[in-house]
Amino acid sequence: MPDNILLVEDEAALRMTLGDRLRAEGYGVDYAATGDEGLDKATRLPFDLVILDVMLPGLSGLRVCEEIRAAGLITPILMLTAKGQTTDKVAGLKIGADDYVTKPFDMQELIARVEALLRRAPARSAPAAEPLSFGSVRVDVRGTAVTREGQPVSLSAREFQLLRYFLEHPGATLSREQLLTDVWGYSSAMFTRTVDVHVAGLRQKLEPEPRHPRFFITVQGLGYKFRPQGA
Ligand code: CA
Repeated sequence: MPDNILLVEDEAALRMTLGDRLRAEGYGVDYAATGDEGLDKATRLPFDLVILDVMLPGLSGLRVCEEIRAAGLITPILMLTAKGQTTDKVAGLKIGADDYVTKPFDMQELIARVEALLRRAPARSAPAAEPLSFGSVRVDVRGTAVTREGQPVSLSAREFQLLRYFLEHPGATLSREQLLTDVWGYSSAMFTRTVDVHVAGLRQKLEPEPRHPRFFITVQGLGYKFRPQGA
């Protein structure tokens, strides 16, 4: 299977030129013209690489990058920055972009960066090489797509992050405070209700009977526990 690249760029001409070139190099290419569309596709569909323009209508490329990482996705991100915007480069790398090229760029140079990032990618996602599954739910190799009974399930970025955390801690009793700290990055007990709301969301979408959960179990007075084998 060819590597699939998501190209998020609002300039139609560049989108077309770059897209054609990537296809000619043998890559599968999907497009987004706005930050919102880019974020939606990047978090809903499996890609091997995201090429992300910084200056976009709506959500900026930096925000999109931040949200992709907040969703727990490790898909390599190559930012396209405008000449002279050094701050964007620094900010982009800080929030999880892997590399950047400055516009206007040489096509050969960009292709070389793409190849380098794709070569590096398998090593980075190696620990999650096995598809994870419980019941009829499957979480794909890179953790970028979830299906239930073969049908795609749409999770919010935070639900996805919470699911990953549960998958990484099977059988462990996890307190609301711990989930908040590790998944949301909050430390205030004021927000523990947030955890309940998101666990309820996961149950609704992934449990055969959400009112009688088998996988995402409440541990009275303590928190929650994920049981991959079901209760
Ligand atoms: Ca732009």
